[in-house]
Amino acid sequence: MRLFECGTLVPGCEWHSRAQDDAELVRRAVEHLRLTHGEDMIRETMVDNIKARIRDEDANEAAA
Ligand SMILES: [Zn+2]
Repeated sequence: MRLFECGTLVPGCEWHSRAQDDAELVRRAVEHLRLTHGEDMIRETMVDNIKARIRDEDANEAAA
């Protein structure tokens, strides 16, 4: 499972989402940024920023 936490991009925001693939996660994150943070123009760099912060949820937390 892939995980994106908005707080890594917008300090203080606790929104996060999980999805099976990055494309779906990016889509949800963009939607959240538009609706919640008023980002009307999602620039290419924004998508890159989201992708850079998506991580594998299973990697280190499976044992927790
Ligand atoms: Zn947010």
